Amino acid sequence: MAKASIAAPTAAPTADFQTSGVFDELGMERDPNNLYLQVIDSVLQAADILELPHHLKLILAQPKNEVMVHFPVRMNDGDYRLFKGYRVQHNNVLGPYKGGVRFHPDVHLDDVKALAALMTMKCSLVRVPFGGAKGGCKVDPRAIDHDELMRVSRRFITAISNIIGPDTDIPAPDVGTNAQVMAWFADTYTNTAGSYSRHDAMRVVTGKPLEMGGSLGREKATGQGVVDVLAEMLPGMGLPIEGARVSILGYGNVGSWTGRLIEEKGARVVAVMDHTGAIRNDEGIDAVLLAEHVAETGGVAGFGTAHGRTKTGRHTQADADAVTAEEFYRTPVDVFVPAALEQMIDVEKAGWLECKVVAEAANAPTTPQGERLLQARGVEVLPAILCNAGGVTVSYLEWVQNKQSVSWDLERVDTTLNKHMVLAARRTLLARHRYECDMRTAAYIAALENIGKVYSLRGIFP
Ligand code: NAD
Repeated sequence: MAKASIAAPTAAPTADFQTSGVFDELGMERDPNNLYLQVIDSVLQAADILELPHHLKLILAQPKNEVMVHFPVRMNDGDYRLFKGYRVQHNNVLGPYKGGVRFHPDVHLDDVKALAALMTMKCSLVRVPFGGAKGGCKVDPRAIDHDELMRVSRRFITAISNIIGPDTDIPAPDVGTNAQVMAWFADTYTNTAGSYSRHDAMRVVTGKPLEMGGSLGREKATGQGVVDVLAEMLPGMGLPIEGARVSILGYGNVGSWTGRLIEEKGARVVAVMDHTGAIRNDEGIDAVLLAEHVAETGGVAGFGTAHGRTKTGRHTQADADAVTAEEFYRTPVDVFVPAALEQMIDVEKAGWLECKVVAEAANAPTTPQGERLLQARGVEVLPAILCNAGGVTVSYLEWVQNKQSVSWDLERVDTTLNKHMVLAARRTLLARHRYECDMRTAAYIAALENIGKVYSLRGIFP
């Protein structure tokens, strides 16, 4: 595969934080690779531009509550293992805390704090009345079986049950968790929490299976939101979504739905990479067939060989070449969609990318150093709090339906989601023009304007 022409930078841009006064005042460390500090530094830069009061910057720079739990689970071999979990509640000025729970062997407190802070900003940007939270459990869900996963899920939610609730803190799926895990969370909570009726207690989690009060459209919601934002913003950048060439990093819930839905809009997915490998087909990869392949085999690797070629040897959309990670990143595309984990687009990857737009479907996939290089190279970075807010928006719609004991049809869910996403995109563009800043800062400004107004109306108790 031919290498792209864009050369990597000779020197990494500086990684100094720009809002270190607040960090010093709160006695926070200065590790430039710390995800939490990176996120808070970006938020505080926007707060500086908005001239938010200093005490609000201090409040937003630290989560309200950080809970760490340890709990034993009996494994199938009869032995007991001790698991570590977290629930971080960043801010609830706009409403009950809201945020997903991640099951992953590399979950750390500072990452959960960063993801919780992003939830505060995301809910505010799309104007859903929730605050920001996040949870995590140090476990590899692929390395344990169904019954063990159920026991871990039930013990984790029991361990944090005194700080969550249908009107206080509402978990949802994230990396490594899904509707089945939400079903176990909801069942465990309804059987142990006394202060709600069993039916009403189901509101404690969103992303539930349809049969248990889940919402139509929730499974695809985050990918749908990514596509709604791109459909709204790409034409203004001179890039019609129809015919756009797209590469996707991560083909789980968010990546695969983004692929399938953007293909429906006439875009072409030409390269995909996940934890099993990378594939490329310049004619376009059939996103639906690839999702089926991932569901069957656990990853994108082997897609090409599984489906074979046409008799003439030409690529069809049902096959692809296996490529290296570097070849994947260097594939020339219009839109690159990171939909895997945090901090994957560092300076090296930012130097490899050959795209016009990065649409952050994952949370915090671009390091500040990587983003500065992308900006210098003229790449537009659409931030995570905008691009992936579709998940929490439909979670809110699920919670509203549960509260009213009704079920909306898919059209109503999709239309309402689209309105939230389009308005959030326009708010971001407006802030960008008004303050002449990059998209990430603009999205934070649009979110902070709302939070700042609510704080000034409510005041600080007492
Ligand atoms: P998922 O577990 O369904 O998928 C994760 C994907 O990342 C998988 O395809 C996996 O193979 C890939 N991946 C993991 N490590 C990788 C590596 N080292 N290299 C390449 N690929 C790797 O998770 P998801 O729910 O799709 O979440 C993806 C991202 O989107 C996360 O940042 C998550 O926080 C964010 N997000 C998810 C939702 C949601 O509703 N699920 C909502 C908002 C944001």
